[in-house]
Amino acid sequence: MKIHNFYAGPAILPKEVIEETSKEILNFAGSGLSIMEISHRSKEFIKVMEEAVSLVRELLGAGDDYEVLFLSGGASSQFFMVPMNLLNEDEKAAYTDTGTWASKAIKEAKLFGNIDVVTSSKADNYTHIPKIPALEDGYIYLHLTSNNTIYGTQYKQFPDVQVPLVADMSSDIFSRQFDINKFGVIYAGAQKNMGPAGTTLVVIRKDLLGRVKRQIPSMLKYENHIENGSMYNTPPVLPVFVSMLTMRWIKKSGGVAAMEKKNIQKSHLLYQEIERNSMFYSPVNQEDRSDMNVCFLLHDRNLEKEFLENCKKEGLVGLEGHRSVGGFRASIYNAMDIDSVEKLVGLMQEFERLKS
Ligand SMILES: *Cc1c(COP(=O)(O)O)cnc(C)c1O
Repeated sequence: MKIHNFYAGPAILPKEVIEETSKEILNFAGSGLSIMEISHRSKEFIKVMEEAVSLVRELLGAGDDYEVLFLSGGASSQFFMVPMNLLNEDEKAAYTDTGTWASKAIKEAKLFGNIDVVTSSKADNYTHIPKIPALEDGYIYLHLTSNNTIYGTQYKQFPDVQVPLVADMSSDIFSRQFDINKFGVIYAGAQKNMGPAGTTLVVIRKDLLGRVKRQIPSMLKYENHIENGSMYNTPPVLPVFVSMLTMRWIKKSGGVAAMEKKNIQKSHLLYQEIERNSMFYSPVNQEDRSDMNVCFLLHDRNLEKEFLENCKKEGLVGLEGHRSVGGFRASIYNAMDIDSVEKLVGLMQEFERLKS
């Protein structure tokens, strides 16, 4: 039976990427050694890192004014690395509070400078993306979470502001097209839409660096990683390799534009059913609904367990909502094909027939 993987993260990867990885785990690039047991300084791995960086540039349209890094420590480490490297103690940055991850980013940033939360949807349980007011002068950057993995909201348009955007794109990187030139920093933990857990992509505009006066530990200083091509210390070799394979797969499949088209098809199919089906509803404001994480609820919440069990029996796994939200969350990242969403929609229709 095919297992349909709706987990939010670590999450689904293209089948052919997993198959190729399994081969290279046994014999990497014909070296007779596993990808897990070769030096990161070997010419074979250096080629992987170079290809990974160049694929990021190509898929995001990032020019020479940007640096591309593969770090470790998760997206959560970027919550503090960004302000530590970009913001002096007497300077200010603007943040938007659109969910759990955004508020964690805010908490960390406060350790390094003056942080203004310029907008928040917390009072509405993060069920919409709040408008960003006109910013006063003096902000070094505006931080936002492009897709709120837990609440199923997503910026459909990025704000036009006078300062560089800094975006946590952990759960929608490479899922849709956007103009990178609005962004000073983009970061994304690999394990949602790019690869296995263990590496974090950071894309950073060079002119933002070298401004802060504080002492920064070597491992936390972007410049050190840039000067050493993400090999200041041992990089997460396997996660970088798998991320590179996923990016190759995206490119071969038609690039980010093709991903976007497929993602919209999947999400529309599912949201349409949520609207049509008398048993389910979406708590999320219509314009802000995520194409990556589709959150929905049963009117009769006593039936939640039964619906999840029906799904499990048919091979649909990972549909439980985040523990802080409950209900259901279908994570339908790039690697998911439409047949998995069709299967879920079929089960929702069957549940409606069964119960009415
Ligand atoms: C999962 C997630 C994180 C946390 O990522 P880690 O790599 O576990 O630190 C941060 N931001 C968003 C939007 C996420 O989805």
